[in-house]
Amino acid sequence: MNCEDQVQFLKRVGPVLAKKFARLGIVTVGDLLAHYPRRYVDYAHPVPVLSAPAGEEVVVKATVYAKLGTTRLPGGRTLVKVQAGDDSASLTLTWFNIPYAADKLLVDETYWFAGRVGGPLTAREMVSPVVRTCAQVKAAPFSAVYPQTEGLSSAVIGRCVAQALEQCVPLPDPLPPELRRRFRLPDKWTAVRMIHRPAGPEEIAAARRRLIFEELLCLQLALTLSRSRGQQRTSAPMEPRPLEPFWASLPFAPTGAQRRAAEEIAADLCRPAPMNRLLQGDVGSGKTLVAAAGIYLAALNGWQSALMAPTEILAVQHAENLQKTLAPFGLRVALLTGSMKAAAKKAALAAIASGEADLVVGTHAVLGTGVEFARLGLAIVDEQHRFGVRQRGQLAGKAGAPHLLVMSATPIPRTLSLLMYGDLDVSILDELPPGRMPIKTYAITGKKRRDMFAYLDKCIAAGQQVYIVCPLIEEGENTAQGMQAAKTYLEQVAKPLLPGRRIGLMHGRLKPKEKAEVMAAFSAGELDVLVSTTVIEVGVDVPRAGVMVIENAERYGLSALHQLRGRVGRGGGQAVCILISDHEGEAVRDRLRFLCHTTDGFQVAQYDLDHRGPGDFFGSRQHGLPTLQIADLASDTRALYAAQQTAHELLEADPGLDKPEHQVLARQVEQLLRRAALN
Ligand code: ADP
Ligand code: MG
Repeated sequence: MNCEDQVQFLKRVGPVLAKKFARLGIVTVGDLLAHYPRRYVDYAHPVPVLSAPAGEEVVVKATVYAKLGTTRLPGGRTLVKVQAGDDSASLTLTWFNIPYAADKLLVDETYWFAGRVGGPLTAREMVSPVVRTCAQVKAAPFSAVYPQTEGLSSAVIGRCVAQALEQCVPLPDPLPPELRRRFRLPDKWTAVRMIHRPAGPEEIAAARRRLIFEELLCLQLALTLSRSRGQQRTSAPMEPRPLEPFWASLPFAPTGAQRRAAEEIAADLCRPAPMNRLLQGDVGSGKTLVAAAGIYLAALNGWQSALMAPTEILAVQHAENLQKTLAPFGLRVALLTGSMKAAAKKAALAAIASGEADLVVGTHAVLGTGVEFARLGLAIVDEQHRFGVRQRGQLAGKAGAPHLLVMSATPIPRTLSLLMYGDLDVSILDELPPGRMPIKTYAITGKKRRDMFAYLDKCIAAGQQVYIVCPLIEEGENTAQGMQAAKTYLEQVAKPLLPGRRIGLMHGRLKPKEKAEVMAAFSAGELDVLVSTTVIEVGVDVPRAGVMVIENAERYGLSALHQLRGRVGRGGGQAVCILISDHEGEAVRDRLRFLCHTTDGFQVAQYDLDHRGPGDFFGSRQHGLPTLQIADLASDTRALYAAQQTAHELLEADPGLDKPEHQVLARQVEQLLRRAALN
């Protein structure tokens, strides 16, 4: 068997199980071996029953005193009970619905049991423990626990992994021997064996070090190779032009930060190397206008610009706004989205190809193969974190080496931005347009919901529009209690409490066309309230939307809440955000209180990093990087630097990774790029 074989080739894996594996992204035996354990249970160090901390997962070593038999419970369920214990205390073991659970246990024999200990000190018990014999513990003192899915338990995955480790021909090693020696890393096959069946903590550490390094190296290589940029000369050289006429044409004065950022961009555009710049600014800081200044300058130099937005609604809105902003200079804007009618699309494509359009605004449709630019000079990606790495590169790839500007409201730590863009420059908009009042944020409990609706009704009467965000679409989607579902909320809460008001519903399961219609109705003021899941479009500007209500606020990171509340208050006037949570945890209340007192996106992101750990901040959709199997971009910083350095050296010596000793590595990098493209 080799690592490209399907998991179905494993014993006892049929089509049904294979489907479940596929749900975990596991198709081949190689995928299975790259499904690394989430953690390990340490059978080598059992704790005494008496002192086992209640509620925590522990291992105890206990002798079976008596098998108490199987009881039938109402509803056809079964209960198996076993009496056991060690020197410190006795322990009752129970299993529900596993009638054969005790069959293999022998009275007077000693076993290792893993699970949670509960009950009072005088009657300790363990429900559904995992059992290990002495021989099993000797063979694998550290037992792997795998990320599992419904119907595919960690134990079953472990059995399949064991079989694969026995029967699969050793995996080829992507790291050349010289690199392994230099960083003192075990070879691939050894590392894979150790991560799945470690003899002790040292082996886990060594295996992790090796696999993390390999993964980060591949990621870095993939990114560098896909960037196709580097130190080349730009294909769109430009001459400096004053921005004054552009500023003068606006109905308002630009902020100091906007001027500064636009000047930085203007300077970049006139350099021989292509611009590679990130424009970072909190929601509502006016990034679009800065982009418009760049588009203006490019057009004066005879170059086309392209702006890519993550959603259709946002693309349409950008096209309309930019058309207005740029019209005084005779610039023409073409819109290109996936759902456009064939004739309109054809006209847009023609305008882009002939150069008649100075600016193309669109969704990822602008990456389509049929889209040919006459002379693309400036590529702009809005809300960059919503795009995969590949897509950003693809837009720039539409011309030789155009200038690239990416815009984001999410502050990105330096290590991560290096990884995502290589050496990019950053402009920061740290100033909101004047007259914009900071959003007032309040945290309340569900008891106040009725009062809140009375308040909402007044806001609507005063001409404001309201968003209400719920975590679920329908009830029963999630077993967790007390979560609001948008559909139910609309019928049972919003409609009864806001009689006569026009209320719309928005969620991810609507068709793109339906979503667009709902959003358009809300934008046009034909709806007073929009009950929605978090799909409400990033960056969308509905000037009259003044109130944002977020149900189950405890479910979100602060950055996410901050992004959501940034949807309101864009038209001036006092905007309000109401966070509703019945969660009683002190940490949650602190978090929400913090948000009530700060409106600075950078402080908010920092709080998330400090208090919730990198996991939330680097949540999969935040950075557009492929999901990593084992490395953690936030905490494996040292490995990341080493990988960056090594990638640089490798590519200097072998720019296309063509040498025979780099073949395995090149293949792995290619795989990663494919995964990134799917992201
Ligand atoms: P974001 O940075 O979140 O993308 P936008 O570019 O959508 O922000 O701008 C938010 C709103 O602020 C828009 O309605 C825009 O017209 C307005 N705006 C931008 N700059 C200024 C300014 N200097 N003065 C007043 N309003 C501005
Ligand atoms: Mg924006």
